Amino acid sequence: MGQEVNYSELLYEGKAKKIFKTPEKEVFFLEFKDSLTAFNALKKGSFENKGIVNRDIAALVFDYLEQHGVKSHYLKKEKHNGMLVKKVEIIPFEVVVRNVLAGSTAKKLGLEEGTPLSEPLVEFYFKKDELNDPFVSEEQMRIIYKISEKDISLLCELALMINQGLKELFHRIDIELIDFKVEFGKDLQGQILLADEITPDCCRLWDVKTKEKLDKDRFRRDLGQVKESYEQVLARLQKLNIRKG
Ligand code: UDP
Repeated sequence: MGQEVNYSELLYEGKAKKIFKTPEKEVFFLEFKDSLTAFNALKKGSFENKGIVNRDIAALVFDYLEQHGVKSHYLKKEKHNGMLVKKVEIIPFEVVVRNVLAGSTAKKLGLEEGTPLSEPLVEFYFKKDELNDPFVSEEQMRIIYKISEKDISLLCELALMINQGLKELFHRIDIELIDFKVEFGKDLQGQILLADEITPDCCRLWDVKTKEKLDKDRFRRDLGQVKESYEQVLARLQKLNIRKG
């Protein structure tokens, strides 16, 4: 029997995950917590086994995307509710892709939630909790934050590739991908990789037939059945027999 590794050196603890060092310099242990937060952590909750469910969803999605040409930080599942990931330096911009208008954006623009867009929309938000992650334009990214035009184009291109892959993946399990948020990081060689997670915490997923929400909006809006919805997404993905990367 192999010796169990203990990941004791905590590098960072976020709202839903913890990152630990491992004996390998280029590898981190990412632990998915059972907690659930919304509105910049003003609303807090949790459910039993959320960490494992989200870890399993993220692993399947990363495996699927890898087969569709999107490289991520994901290496393999690890004990309990964790995964081993390649060490990256996170690019401090959240990338949101929208296929259908929902949430605060629909509200802000005075449009009905569920309004479809004629093409996918990519948006950037500066990662800064104290500022509530403000929207930034591509020009602001280039001029204020000195992100090269090449990197901005690459982030847009990758976000759209991920969107195409995810739309197809979820469509196969009768789920419509409304919108999602992803994060990217640079590895030690400077290569941009998809990082963080893709789970119902950061996507809007609607059942195609019933239009029921199967994502964190159930928690944000007190719709109930949060655990059951996340488990439903995982159960449907597991039926697809996605191959390991
Ligand atoms: N999102 C996220 N983290 C954030 C902000 C947004 O994961 O800090 C996700 C959110 O779950 C949704 C998408 O990004 O799937 C677009 O969110 P939106 O900008 O519409 O925010 P909201 O309506 O929740 O304010």
